[in-house]
Amino acid sequence: MLSLEAGALRERIAELEEVARRLEPGPEDREALRAPVVRHSEEFYAGLEEALAYRVTEDKGVGILAVPIPENGIGIDEALEIIGEHVDRPGLNPASGGHMAYVPGGGVFASSLGDYLADVGNHYSGVFYATPGAARLENLLVRWMADLVGYPESALGTLSSGGSIANLTAVVAARDAKRVRPRDVERSPVYMTRQVHHCVTKAMRLAGLGEAPIRGVPLDDRYRMRADELARLIEADREAGLRPWMVVASSGTTDTGAIDPVDEIADVAEAEGLWLHVDAAYGGFFLLTELGRELIRGLERSDSVVMDPHKGLFLPYGTGALIVKDGALLARSQHYEANYLQDALSSTEEISPADLSPELTRHFRGLRMWMPLVLHGLAPFRAALEEKIQLCRYFYEELGRIPGMERGPYPELSVALYRYVPDEGDPNEFNARLIREVQRDGRIFLSSTTIDDVFWLRLAVLCFRTHRRHVDLALEILKEKIAKLEG
Ligand SMILES: *Cc1c(COP(=O)(O)O)cnc(C)c1O
Repeated sequence: MLSLEAGALRERIAELEEVARRLEPGPEDREALRAPVVRHSEEFYAGLEEALAYRVTEDKGVGILAVPIPENGIGIDEALEIIGEHVDRPGLNPASGGHMAYVPGGGVFASSLGDYLADVGNHYSGVFYATPGAARLENLLVRWMADLVGYPESALGTLSSGGSIANLTAVVAARDAKRVRPRDVERSPVYMTRQVHHCVTKAMRLAGLGEAPIRGVPLDDRYRMRADELARLIEADREAGLRPWMVVASSGTTDTGAIDPVDEIADVAEAEGLWLHVDAAYGGFFLLTELGRELIRGLERSDSVVMDPHKGLFLPYGTGALIVKDGALLARSQHYEANYLQDALSSTEEISPADLSPELTRHFRGLRMWMPLVLHGLAPFRAALEEKIQLCRYFYEELGRIPGMERGPYPELSVALYRYVPDEGDPNEFNARLIREVQRDGRIFLSSTTIDDVFWLRLAVLCFRTHRRHVDLALEILKEKIAKLEG
């Protein structure tokens, strides 16, 4: 574009400013935008108890594609209608108490206020120098989780977008701490069960460790890692001249809720000099309960642990966490230099979240976690978490009264496995039809898994809105659908 002479330049800037100013609504315009959003969310809450947990629709939200990104904006009412129709309506309703599949959480309201304030202020939480209070707030939350795990003062960590990125960051820290160089990868085995979350093996690949041998440690009859088998596998690898370096345990597997015996695994890892990473994305926050502390033992002996606030703290999706016992190792694996950040990097008062994660500029996600914790205090979290364990036990007991129902192992946390064994026909096929019936019904949402060629149904209670009436409804619906299929 040709450069303009001075007068015309000023005129052009003024024109541009006038249009650009639409991005900054004044107080009244803000209220006019906010009020319908608040109304929309109140309607959403009001309908939640009656809403389906899963809604099968023909359209599957395809209508959103017909809405153009306009040159000039549309009204808030129209925008909300579009969201309601194409986003809120079809598919899974993860806010519903009837969502008892995968690993739910719910999404507590107070987090939305934290997100709102984080977005309004646009605080720069990545770097202490920029918004020191935001960095301190996130570090405080990490410290709080480190204390929950039982880690010493040396621990550091990071709030991530979720468990997958947290596990990736852990694998990278372990790789660097154990000095697994690219040329070592093929001879550097890692140990995990086949019940480990798939994001861990994906993380291995992303971290350049795709060629590392992955040893599947055998499971006991409750789908937990066998520490004696772990020791045996490591010994065999050492004899073969390989260099074992990491074991990944789970405190609450996604599939079955099994808790690996971290204490026994730590004995082996310590003796063999392996990094012990524990994926507690699902189970970690049960440590807030007495029951959970009895069930999940030895976490303090691990080198790193992942926990997902968007699961066990019921936050809306978008918050995971990694804590590393020797925080300096995490900082070392994430180190960077950047001349343009020289002012920021010279500050040594407090560590910056960006020093401990692959992210630099990021959402100030600490606020969505801090808000519910300080507004409600810990008591309702502890109660909700124990309630989930007890609800799962209740479900398991009640299942025992349904003729033909086969139950998996007694639930360790809040996941139960079960299936219906019909008088005739293939049980796998029957249960596949049963879960489809339940999902089509939609009042509650359950999922399934296959272990050793057995098709199991799962119940996973972790949404804070799930209470006994939802579990009773699940039992009722299962009975109803079984009767229907048995014809
Ligand atoms: C959910 C889950 C993950 C993955 O976490 P995301 O937050 O979905 O990325 C990893 N491990 C376990 C045990 C999980 O339950």
